[in-house]
Amino acid sequence: MNISKCALTSSYRHYFPYISNVRVPFLDLNAVHSPIRNQLEEVFSNVLDESYFVYGKDVTEFEISFAGKHGMAQCLAVGNCTDALNICLKMLGIGAGDEVIVPAMTWITDAEVVSNLGAAPVFVDVDADTYTLDIDKVKAAITPKTKAIIPVHLFGQMVDMKLLMELARSHDIKVIEDCAQSHFAEQSSEKAGSIGHAAVFSFYPTKNLGALGDAGAILTNDKDLYNDCRKLANHGAPDKHGHEFPGMNSRMDTLQAAILNLKLQYIDKWNEERRGLAKIYSNELSDLSAIQLPKTAGSNTHVFHVYNILIEYRDDLKQFLKEEGIQTQIHYPKALPFTQAYAHLDHDASDFPNSYRMQEEGLSLPLFPGMTLEQQSYVIEKIRSFFQK
Ligand SMILES: *Cc1c(COP(=O)(O)O)cnc(C)c1O
Repeated sequence: MNISKCALTSSYRHYFPYISNVRVPFLDLNAVHSPIRNQLEEVFSNVLDESYFVYGKDVTEFEISFAGKHGMAQCLAVGNCTDALNICLKMLGIGAGDEVIVPAMTWITDAEVVSNLGAAPVFVDVDADTYTLDIDKVKAAITPKTKAIIPVHLFGQMVDMKLLMELARSHDIKVIEDCAQSHFAEQSSEKAGSIGHAAVFSFYPTKNLGALGDAGAILTNDKDLYNDCRKLANHGAPDKHGHEFPGMNSRMDTLQAAILNLKLQYIDKWNEERRGLAKIYSNELSDLSAIQLPKTAGSNTHVFHVYNILIEYRDDLKQFLKEEGIQTQIHYPKALPFTQAYAHLDHDASDFPNSYRMQEEGLSLPLFPGMTLEQQSYVIEKIRSFFQK
């Protein structure tokens, strides 16, 4: 294998493990993009003509419309969601000696940002049915050092924000929603990202609303926080040269913003399509008692970033599907307390039984806008035939 082929294969691995005989990919971004290819190319060409590649007008346009669609006062476009969270927590003054409550089952961002600020992530288990923060366990984890809670709307369904906000307000704790997997999910008609003190978003290419590279954003109604975050992301300056403190460089490219502005026209339709596909999976697999299907809490509108099932023989099913050309994923192979990065905290499975079960039994099935009914029927048929063996 030559070097460029190697590099290609390994970079694809970041999205999903490479399998050679793929019949149904976990996610086919071409299927998402091909219906709007002409429009995407028009965006490229406009940005090229304009030649204002950083802080171009598309970025401001995106900030205004993304904030507006959430009924929020301010949006700050940044480089990615990990930066967004780092910027937010730092400007909220989180640092050494502070504790931040983080779900045990999520992407590493939520814990690593806290650790890198010198604060301590305090892991809390997720609910067995919704896979989002268990509010009773959050309550039990609060100490006088708790400065913030990061509810992650995992897989596309929101944490019980009503209960969480009541709890947080009564202890004067900040809530920063992680909406990386939940663009335009709702709870009692309120949108993900519009309830906490601030919210962070990822537009990594595979997310429900994805750029064609890295991008992220912060939403908040707190004007001071917004101004502070804006400065931090711009070398500590409100403008080009007025550096008030040592900051950093975290910007959304004009091109990414322009792509997102286009994609915002389609996100509702894409989320609807995801819900439709999820419903078909749930109907067609409902009689298989060995599988726990995803459950949506009554007040939630799920956006199914991930359709995750639990099954005791997960590894066997995954292998079987792989042999049949079906790509699946595990979200996530290790709950955060069980990664090497947090092994020093010395947790064991009984501390986070639901997160541990997800790590051992969770399997995410292919689901994306543009997935054909033939592809989905094939997945369903193969899962059923696994149980007939
Ligand atoms: C993708 C993701 C992130 C990180 O987003 P980046 O833009 O890649 O930094 C954070 N949290 C969750 C829950 C995610 O799924």
